[in-house]
Amino acid sequence: HNTNIKVVDMPEGYQGEGFMTMQLSKVIGLARKNSIWPLPFATSCCGIEFMATMGSTYDLSRFGSERLAFTPRQCDLLMVMGTISKKMAPVLRQVYIQMAEPRWVVAVGACASSGGIFDTYSVLQGIDQVIPVDVYVPGCPPRPEAIIDGVLRIQDLVESESIRRRNSPEYQELLTSYGIS
Ligand code: SF4
Repeated sequence: HNTNIKVVDMPEGYQGEGFMTMQLSKVIGLARKNSIWPLPFATSCCGIEFMATMGSTYDLSRFGSERLAFTPRQCDLLMVMGTISKKMAPVLRQVYIQMAEPRWVVAVGACASSGGIFDTYSVLQGIDQVIPVDVYVPGCPPRPEAIIDGVLRIQDLVESESIRRRNSPEYQELLTSYGIS
């Protein structure tokens, strides 16, 4: 019994999406990628690095993301920066739920990614315990270059994913696993 044999049911040449849909998806992906509106959810020191990231030296606007949104309804990238206490977790989750699709999340720094040095009773040990995360940026704090790199990784996702991905069973299953519909 050879488990390496892959059974392919698709007819030869089948590309999944039709040609027009594929081209439309590429154009939309390109437009989305270069016009991401971040919502900075900054609670502590990593947020200070984000200020530097937005300043003239590093200038995140070079990548089309200078338009910060401080309302979840008007943003598509949630950037979580800093220590998230367990009391803050429901607020963060609510903000995520209020964002419209398509939406992406980046955990900036060790605290947002895993709780960082704060392995205590009161600190959430990573925001992915309450919301799905697309990209993790390591560091305590990450330098502005690393934060920009995180945004570029998000851009890669945004550009390459199908415009229908957010309706895909996998994504819906992911949301359901977080109790989000
Ligand atoms: Fe502060 Fe480090 Fe936590 Fe960032 S990862 S919020 S710099 S303690």
